[in-house]
Amino acid sequence: MKQNIKSLLYEELAEIVKSTGQPQFRTNQIFKWLHSGVRSFSEMTNIPKGLREQLDSHYFITVPIIRKKLVSMLDGTVKYLWELYDGNTVESVIMKYEYGSTICVSTQVGCRMGCAFCASTLGGKVRDLEASEILDQVLFAEIDSGIKISNIVLMGIGEPLDNYDNVIRFLALVNHKDGMNIGMRHISLSTCGIVEKIDKLADLNLQLTLSVSLHAPDDETRTKIMPINRKYGVDELLLCCRRYFSKTGRRISFEYAMIDGVNDTEHHAELLAEKIKNTSSHVNLISLNQVKESPLQPSIAENMKKFTDILKNNNINVTVRRKLGSDIDASCGQLRRSVGEN
Ligand code: SAH
Repeated sequence: MKQNIKSLLYEELAEIVKSTGQPQFRTNQIFKWLHSGVRSFSEMTNIPKGLREQLDSHYFITVPIIRKKLVSMLDGTVKYLWELYDGNTVESVIMKYEYGSTICVSTQVGCRMGCAFCASTLGGKVRDLEASEILDQVLFAEIDSGIKISNIVLMGIGEPLDNYDNVIRFLALVNHKDGMNIGMRHISLSTCGIVEKIDKLADLNLQLTLSVSLHAPDDETRTKIMPINRKYGVDELLLCCRRYFSKTGRRISFEYAMIDGVNDTEHHAELLAEKIKNTSSHVNLISLNQVKESPLQPSIAENMKKFTDILKNNNINVTVRRKLGSDIDASCGQLRRSVGEN
């Protein structure tokens, strides 16, 4: 069976080149070709034909097909539905901000976390994405759209820390100076809160931003909407966030989707402020995006305002996330792995 060559780290590719007896500069040439989006080995015109054929007999290059592309009339947000080499599909979204463009990428086909408010988890998880398949979303979105991508958020379909090894590999690839060369400080990784994996990530001391989908300050509320909370409760998660900060020096970003009558009362706001006041962090409030299969509704504007004010009065850093791409179902929690449902 052929192996996926674009998922290989630079050093691994170097080993392969070495084993063919070719000079080391070939590694750099091949790596650059792969990360510029070639579709076949035959496009690697400065590589000797014999080596190209040798690679072709042992490896394949992943190239996703654009199954659907939607552009928002409201804000220029672009959503792609990609078909992967085995026919599975995932989505990514390019968002334009004043300081540059951000792509939101998927890390799994589906998701097994089961959050009550999220469309990406309907139907469960099919499989993990390989490192090259996460990279391809950035690479081919940039090539197709002509939009220079400066930031990446791992906030699409899937739980990045449930696909830990491939995600770490993707980070090394996308960050490589001879590849897309996107700095760690321009990357955010969002998790529903898998404590042991956050600790593992902390040990790598990457300078990325860790976003934690908190959505409630107490176990009773959080367990209702996020099954993962049965395994790692709020206090355990917050302790882990403090460890993460002390190891990496990076402030945590807490995501909090405001859901009408569920997690949006003054009591929730006071408790949230109390619980995170000793954690170097920032709260990103999001008005819940509606998912047609779920009865949950976004909070009313007045409650959102009250909630924000309480956090501010308690000296918590808080911002309200702008909603982009709502006319093309490209907002948080609206991405899906299947065709035709949206
Ligand atoms: N699995 C990871 C990555 C997904 S990021 C995680 O849970 O963090 C997507 C973000 O959008 C998460 O913070 C998620 O909780 C949030 N989200 C999901 N559904 C949403 C919805 N309907 N409205 C607003 N935010 C939502």
